[in-house]
Amino acid sequence: MPLENAVHLCVDMQRIFAKGGVWETPWMERILPTIVDIVARHPEGTVFTRFITPASPDEAPGQWRPYFERWRVATRNAPGGAQLDLVPELARFAPPAAIVDKPAYSAFFRSRLGGLLLDRGIRTVIVSGAETDVCVLSTVLDAVNIGFRVVIVEDALCSSSDQGHDALMTMYRLRFSEQIDLVTAEGLKDMWRPERESLGTTSAIPCCSATYLKKIPRERTMAEKDLNELFLDTLKDIYYAEKHILKALPKMAKAANSDQLRAAFEKHFDETEGQVERLEQIFEMLGKAARGKKCDAIEGIIDEGKEIMDEYAETQALDAGLLAAAQAVEHYEISRYGTLKAWAAKLNMPDAVKLLDQTLAEEKKTDEALSKLAEQAVNYEAAA
Ligand code: FE
Ligand code: FE
Ligand code: FE
Repeated sequence: MPLENAVHLCVDMQRIFAKGGVWETPWMERILPTIVDIVARHPEGTVFTRFITPASPDEAPGQWRPYFERWRVATRNAPGGAQLDLVPELARFAPPAAIVDKPAYSAFFRSRLGGLLLDRGIRTVIVSGAETDVCVLSTVLDAVNIGFRVVIVEDALCSSSDQGHDALMTMYRLRFSEQIDLVTAEGLKDMWRPERESLGTTSAIPCCSATYLKKIPRERTMAEKDLNELFLDTLKDIYYAEKHILKALPKMAKAANSDQLRAAFEKHFDETEGQVERLEQIFEMLGKAARGKKCDAIEGIIDEGKEIMDEYAETQALDAGLLAAAQAVEHYEISRYGTLKAWAAKLNMPDAVKLLDQTLAEEKKTDEALSKLAEQAVNYEAAA
């Protein structure tokens, strides 16, 4: 089956794993020419990963700390350096090949790689590199989790453990036949032709958010600060807004005079919890931690609502004021979700479009329900 929209993800072919390296992988030498051949045919369709160790064990989180105490010799500040660069035979291809630095085993861990590949229309990840049973394993399973078709080039993998390598090759073959294909480098030539490439990256993909990696200078191209960034920023904005709304809604429900209005706020509180979860799913699709970014607009709208609650407490006009504040919130959300949905479509993220559309529909429905209640509230107020 020919491969389209594929990328070659070449895992950790670094000097540290090569002959004489701290984590020497004896067969690396043997598979290197095979990998060089794949990369030479697809330099623009290749992403290299590098396992970047911390400067010292103290910078490593959790159980990585004792690990790097044991492997202090592999840390970046170790005498002689950790030799984290790519082996020279492959380094010469980057650029145009891209480089992804990662703080742990998987190329997708704390990384924007998954989102960036999806945004660029990549559906298949072709995997080579080191080691079959550690970083390749972790990367392959994450690629499967994200939803990529994975093609493992079986004669372009190496491990320092023969047993581990053999066990994993058996597992890839037997346990994941729907998601993982095993091919030889020769077979790959027929399946993946250079002209089919569509990665379109020209330099290092910035991806890692581990604190100790922030110290590694990384180039950012103009193309990266584009719609993807704007989408992520706006996602953070609405995530922050939704979290604030979750705090405000119970207070508004408590303040409401009418039972109907209280019920409407309570219902929307439950919906909002689901909306927050949807946003978290989208963050995950982007390979990003779900984090809010201060939204001054929602704070202003909610502050106004608070003022109304104070100023009109125990008056007949309170519900009308609460409704107006709540509708201002809904209108802000409708505007944000409408925009995000349009951008997600542009960025070729159909799953995100679906989630954003569900929320958008809920916000619109809430707004309509509030409009109806507002008419009643005003009529009631006029009649009172
Ligand atoms: Fe909402
Ligand atoms: Fe905002
Ligand atoms: Fe809402």
